[in-house]
Amino acid sequence: MGFLKKIISNLLKPPRTEAFPFAPPQTPASYRGKVVVTAEKCVGCSTCARVCVSSAIDLVEEKDGIALTIWHSKCTFCGLCAYYCPTDAMTVTNEWDLSHRNEQKFAIADTIVAKYQVCVDCGEALMVPHGGVISSSIIGHERLNQKDAPRCNKCRRVQKARQIAGVRI
Ligand code: SF4
Ligand code: SF4
Repeated sequence: MGFLKKIISNLLKPPRTEAFPFAPPQTPASYRGKVVVTAEKCVGCSTCARVCVSSAIDLVEEKDGIALTIWHSKCTFCGLCAYYCPTDAMTVTNEWDLSHRNEQKFAIADTIVAKYQVCVDCGEALMVPHGGVISSSIIGHERLNQKDAPRCNKCRRVQKARQIAGVRI
């Protein structure tokens, strides 16, 4: 009799586990899942690739910008890339479903292009960091920390010299 009572009371209780795969599972906000990069924020500095513990990130210089690829099948979800990204372009999401066949492992990847801007004076391609990023030249193109019209270092120096000399530009 007690046994029957237990069965009936268990049937009346809500489920203790999730209904996956019939309903999406709940993942905590702190869960480290798929890494995504926002192209508009990326300045192609390569910090993420340098700190990546599993060489899951690669940057290649292209004609109109720097292409960044993340191979998700190599990622160990350590979060270092997002931690060290100076512009918050890299984000660790709580997307967990990255299952794939082994032969697809190189297809489970995302590529973005951090586009160059062009110097308003001489037309040279340059990368303009967002926010308070310190200028540096890592891949070869000049990076400047300026909010106004993008200018390369050389044209910026010329502009400054003209301003100091009182020349109207
Ligand atoms: S800006 Fe962030 S995402 Fe882009 S290359 Fe640098 S560290 Fe990587
Ligand atoms: S989370 Fe870690 S392993 Fe994955 S891409 Fe970023 S640095 Fe590399």
